[in-house]
Amino acid sequence: MHFVGIDIGSVASKIAIIDEAEEQVGYCVTDTTPDIDETAQELLDRALAEMNLARFDVAYIVGTGYGRSTISLADENKTEILCHAAGVHRQHPAVRTVIDIGGQDSKVIRLNAAGKVANFAMNNRCAAGTGRFTEVMAKALGIELSRWGEVVRSATRREKISSICTVFAESEIISKIMQKVPLNEILAGVCDSIATRIIETVQRVGGSEPEIAFTGGVANNEGIRLVLEDRLGTSLLIPRIPQSTGAYGAAVLARKAWGKRGGLATSPAV
Ligand code: ADP
Repeated sequence: MHFVGIDIGSVASKIAIIDEAEEQVGYCVTDTTPDIDETAQELLDRALAEMNLARFDVAYIVGTGYGRSTISLADENKTEILCHAAGVHRQHPAVRTVIDIGGQDSKVIRLNAAGKVANFAMNNRCAAGTGRFTEVMAKALGIELSRWGEVVRSATRREKISSICTVFAESEIISKIMQKVPLNEILAGVCDSIATRIIETVQRVGGSEPEIAFTGGVANNEGIRLVLEDRLGTSLLIPRIPQSTGAYGAAVLARKAWGKRGGLATSPAV
């Protein structure tokens, strides 16, 4: 039997397939479209085809993410907080703090020793400090996201970026480029401003406790990881596919729900 988690995010939609040992055996990602059901169905079809599985091989599906309530092919849905907690705890049981930066929001979750959510805080009021923010800055600076690590490493100082709002920060950056501030220093400043937003959220949950995991698509950004580690004064644990953490956690919760039902599968359309 297999179990599926589908995470319909604000920017990207992800699917994870796990086996009965909770090993992630399949993963796909695609852009989120306005038709959430179609996005979910396309992900499921793709993942099953890649895995050579049929729909009846899947016992239970949990949906999560901002579009979770409208995934009609899911058996139930769970919040992103619960799914990220479950996904991290299953892979890294020593983790007590999870920093998740997605496309349009960021969150910090505190876990207890049993992996249960002890506290959390979210920043979902604006795009500052999220994946969207990094995309706008990458364009303004002409530095692809995949190069942020090497560029940030080459900077000897971080230019202060005062604007929080994405639109104002973009104008500020353009004016700094005009003033001939070195691009690597501006980029290091951009990463620093994102780290500041995250640290404010960390403080709202009462501080970070090691081990600290970094999840979400932005955890792939080495520049942000480097500055965040420097500001927090500790290294961060990055899951193997950080963007899949919510979907993986949803799949783990799907397996648990299936177990509670006595191992009875729902009746999927075959
Ligand atoms: P959501 O669930 O809100 O849609 P995700 O956790 O899927 O968000 O993350 C999406 C964001 O991750 C995008 O805004 C994108 O900029 C960023 N991202 C994804 N892959 C990479 C990568 N390889 N390097 C840098 N940023 C990335």
